Amino acid sequence: MSVFSHLEFDDHEQLVFVRDKESGLKAIIAVHNTHLGPALGGCRMWPYESDEAALTDVLRLSKGMTYKSAIAGLPLGGGKCVIIGDPRKDKSPQLLRALGRAIEGLSGAYITAEDSGTSVADMVTIGECTQYASGVMVGSEHGGDPSPSTAYGVFVGLQASVAYQLNRTDLTGVKVAVQGVGNVGFHLCKYLKAAGAELIVTDIFPENVQRVVSELGAAAVAPDEIYAVQADVFAPCAMGGIINTQSLRQLQAKVIAGAANNQLSRPEISQQLQAQGVLYAPDYVINAGGIIDIAYQRNGGSAAQLKTHIEAIGTSLEQIFQRAEQSGCCTQLVADQIAAERLSQ
Ligand code: NAD
Repeated sequence: MSVFSHLEFDDHEQLVFVRDKESGLKAIIAVHNTHLGPALGGCRMWPYESDEAALTDVLRLSKGMTYKSAIAGLPLGGGKCVIIGDPRKDKSPQLLRALGRAIEGLSGAYITAEDSGTSVADMVTIGECTQYASGVMVGSEHGGDPSPSTAYGVFVGLQASVAYQLNRTDLTGVKVAVQGVGNVGFHLCKYLKAAGAELIVTDIFPENVQRVVSELGAAAVAPDEIYAVQADVFAPCAMGGIINTQSLRQLQAKVIAGAANNQLSRPEISQQLQAQGVLYAPDYVINAGGIIDIAYQRNGGSAAQLKTHIEAIGTSLEQIFQRAEQSGCCTQLVADQIAAERLSQ
C-alpha cells in the first residue's frame, strides 16, 4: 500500500495506523493540516472492503476538514479518523478506549468527534482515555450531537442554492431527493418538510426509510433509483464518491446540495456538473454546521451566535456561486481557492 505517492496524499502532517489486537481495533488517524489550529474531524466507522479504501477515505476526509474549517472561519485545522469495521457488529467499549489512548498519544494534534457510525455515547467512551474527544457536551441543545446543526446548515445552504439556480425564494413544492436518511438526512428532511418541500428518499436500511415515510410523508425509492427521480434538488446524505460519470448520466436535478463528505468521485466531475448546468454546493462548505457546533461546544458562545454562524453558510455559498459565474470556474474550484487563500493568510 503506497502512502506518500498515494493519489490523495496532500502533504498530510501525520498518518497514524492504530492496531489493538485484543479489541480488534484497526484505525487510521490522519492529521492533514494544523496551520489554523488543532486538527478537528469526526471518527467514521465503516466496513471498508480493503485497507486501501480506508486510507483513501481518511486522506480525502481529513483534507476536506482543513478546507471546511478554513472556509467556516474557525481556528481549527483538518483531521479525521476511520475505524475499519461494522459499527453494528464490531464496536465495543474496549475498542473505543483503545482508540482513545491512541488519540491521547497525539497530544492534541488531533481532536475527534462523531461521524457516520459513531455516536455521542461513543465519544463519551473514547473520552475516558483522552481529553481530545468532542461532541460530548451534555448541556448543549442536542446533547453534544452535531448532526442537527449539520442538517440546519445544509438546509440553509440548500435554500441559497435553490434561490440562486431556480430563482425560488421558498421551498414550497420544491422536490428534494435525499440519499441517506440517517442522523443528518433525517433532520434535514424535517427542516425541508416544515418549509413545504416534497421529499423523495432512499436508504439501505429499510427502518430508516420507514421513519421518514411514516413521520414526514416522504415517498421512497430503491437506493439505485434515487439519481433518476424527477427532482429539483439532489441531497446526498450518505457516503462519498456518489457523483460520478455513471450517476451524472441519470441525474435529473439541477441542484446538488447535501451533507455527505467527498461527494465528487474525482475533482474533474465538478467541470462536468458545470457543463451539464447543475449547480453544485461544495460539500465541505454546505456541511460545516456540525464542525461549527463542535467549535462552539469547545470554545463557548451562545446558541444565538452559533445559529448566526451556521446561517453564514448561505452567504458563503452565494459568494462562491457568484465568483464561479463571473470567472467561468466551477464551484468546487472556487471554494478550494477561497480555502487556500485563508490557509495562506
Ligand atoms: P449516518 O450513518 O447516520 O447516516 C448515513 C445514512 O446513509 C445511513 O442511514 C445509511 O444506511 C445510509 N446509506 C449508506 N449508504 C447508502 C447508499 N448507498 N444509499 C442510500 N443510503 C445509504 O451518517 P450521518 O452522520 O447522517 O452522516 C451522513 C453524511 O454526512 C456522511 O457522509 C458524513 O460524513 C457527512 N457529515 C456528517 C456530519 C454530522 O454532523 N453527522 C457532518 C458533516 C458531514
